[in-house]
Amino acid sequence: MDIGDIAAVETADDIYYMDTGMYETSGYGSVYIIDADQPAIVDTGIGTNYERIIDALARVDIDPHSLAHLLVTHAHLDHAGGAGFLIADCPNATVHTHERAGPHLSDPAQLIEGTKAAVGEQWQYYVEPNPVPESRLNTLSDGDTIDLGDRSITAVAAPGHALHQMLFYDTTEDTLFTGDAAGIYVPEKDRIQQTSPPSQFNLETCLDDVRTIETITPETLCFGHFGPRAYDDKLLSSYKRALVEWVEAVRQKREEAHSDENVIQHFSEHAKLTDVWGEEKARAEARLNVRGVLAYLDWQATQPEWVSAIVQSNMGFLGNYRKCERSPSLGKPDSEDTNDRTASDQLPAMWAHRALHDTTAHSRRVLMIVLVFVFKKRQTE
Ligand SMILES: [Zn+2]
Ligand SMILES: [Zn+2]
Repeated sequence: MDIGDIAAVETADDIYYMDTGMYETSGYGSVYIIDADQPAIVDTGIGTNYERIIDALARVDIDPHSLAHLLVTHAHLDHAGGAGFLIADCPNATVHTHERAGPHLSDPAQLIEGTKAAVGEQWQYYVEPNPVPESRLNTLSDGDTIDLGDRSITAVAAPGHALHQMLFYDTTEDTLFTGDAAGIYVPEKDRIQQTSPPSQFNLETCLDDVRTIETITPETLCFGHFGPRAYDDKLLSSYKRALVEWVEAVRQKREEAHSDENVIQHFSEHAKLTDVWGEEKARAEARLNVRGVLAYLDWQATQPEWVSAIVQSNMGFLGNYRKCERSPSLGKPDSEDTNDRTASDQLPAMWAHRALHDTTAHSRRVLMIVLVFVFKKRQTE
């Protein structure tokens, strides 16, 4: 697939994806077109060459005037940058995004400064985004739905990569648009590469987001980078492992290196995927991801010692906890006998499961905090 090409998502009716040619790299940035009764686009690209998306609409016979919805997974400009341009060409489209992302889309000044600081020399591939007027925005909370006429899309909060991120779940087609919550899919290697940019990357909540995806268990994952892939437990498990190992690798290198700049330099020199994305993009990606982890480690260091210990202990038993976390009544069952359950049946179970998971995780933390407090108090007495 080359830059500007479109292809059908084979497991779904009327869903297409295109290669936006982000950073002049093929196989990196994908945008989806849902040819529903009320047509929609999922994510809007970086803004540069947004006309390619308009061309793609024409190729699947959608008049820009009939485009009804732009679903923006999060405010990072590689997903939201095209929105302000596309609404000019698609005058009847509403932009749907997380309630935390909305203000950044309508006043992108902070977003531009933050992106410049995060991506460094890669800014050359961006354009300054056009603001999205509030009158064209619909902001979403966890669990909100968007009606496309012949199907509805459920928005599911996924704050690990960025606090303003949503997953979009097409319940009819059992297809989940993951934004950056499931990492970057690399079709050439059939594996997922981490994405951990500053400033809100958080390892623990990233792992929680992958668990949320596992609970939904869609038939198809549609990655913001790159393209569709059949759902696969093993693929997601290896991604969780890769995330933990990645943060640990950066932490260890920081202990040895004399400066953060040396850490960034090290991972840039040893960047993976230079054979897929080219040297420039692969090294820039590595630098961005290291900066995000360093910011996360800095944040961790500001937490009281006993809070860090609790975070570490939660990470430690993640593997074991996952093994017993899914029960047949939650998410999509493995057995054939419950095939009559529709995708939307899974959602109440998912909310219940998440509530339970959040409550147990929270109770566990509170209990540990109380125990540490009692222990410390006894020591001082
Ligand atoms: Zn992102
Ligand atoms: Zn992204």
